[in-house]
Amino acid sequence: MVKEQQFRVTPQVAYNEQNIIEYISREMGIDRRTVTHVHILKKSIDARQKQIYVNLTLRIFINEVPTDEEYVKTEYPDVSKAPQVIVVGAGPCGLFAALRLIELGLKPVILERGKDVRERKKDLALIKSQQSVDPESNYCYGEGGAGAYSDGKLYTRSKKRGNIEKILNVFCQFGASTSILSDAHPHIGTDKLPRVIENMRKQILASGGEVHFQTKMTELLIKDGEVVGVQAVQGDKNSSLFTLLRSRYPCYRP
Ligand SMILES: Cc1cc2nc3c(=O)[nH]c(=O)nc-3n(C[C@H](O)[C@H](O)[C@H](O)COP(=O)(O)OP(=O)(O)OC[C@H]3O[C@@H](n4cnc5c(N)ncnc54)[C@H](O)[C@@H]3O)c2cc1C
Repeated sequence: MVKEQQFRVTPQVAYNEQNIIEYISREMGIDRRTVTHVHILKKSIDARQKQIYVNLTLRIFINEVPTDEEYVKTEYPDVSKAPQVIVVGAGPCGLFAALRLIELGLKPVILERGKDVRERKKDLALIKSQQSVDPESNYCYGEGGAGAYSDGKLYTRSKKRGNIEKILNVFCQFGASTSILSDAHPHIGTDKLPRVIENMRKQILASGGEVHFQTKMTELLIKDGEVVGVQAVQGDKNSSLFTLLRSRYPCYRP
């Protein structure tokens, strides 16, 4: 039997699996040896009173082999020969757009004006040590986008802007802790985020997508009222490469 139930427990119980099993067995009046697994679906802390409590929503497996995957995995096919779509920027929007394009069978070609997430770190250090700001590689520009080197918390008040669960699962697939799936205020952590971003890029490349750093889009190329390509500069050279990049491809409509 698999049951889903909410419990209000002390932190001593909430953060130790064995303590959880003992507690719920007592509460439910069942033999603790029949509980084969407990999966935390949601966790939130209630610190309004002196005694702190943790609200848990649990999936409890009783005399049942647990079937739960830790997270829902997305398959990313090979799109190396698929029609290409140019994505400007490797911030959160660009990276998730590229992954979604791959899911839909299209080849993303990312143009990012800044550097990759590791190289970018060196330029951030220079801001502190020498007060010199690289206009193309800084806290706002570079792989990972604007918030990559701030905090890594994941919080949105929006409930209407698409499938947040899916986004959290994708983060887990690329190395974030699965605790973000159950925490009320999920937090990846600035120390872990660069690796997660790097893993996303590796997947994009492994699927046949392209990522071009230090490549700034300067112009949309419009023909007959339709965007047919982009103009970009790479380093300090004008690049005609990206004027040739676009062949016809179906519009992505979410
Ligand atoms: C200091 C700070 C701290 C933050 N902390 C958090 C946090 O802890 N948690 C959280 O959820 N959110 C945080 N945010 C908000 C979060 O960073 C943004 O919501 C998010 O980055 C927006 O993503 P985006 O992809 O739309 O844009 P951006 O992150 O701005 O990404 C745009 C990307 O496009 C590139 N680009 C721009 N113009 C061009 C061009 N012409 N050609 C090629 N590339 C280009 C840029 O270099 C950049 O990498 C923070 C924001 C800031 C500024």
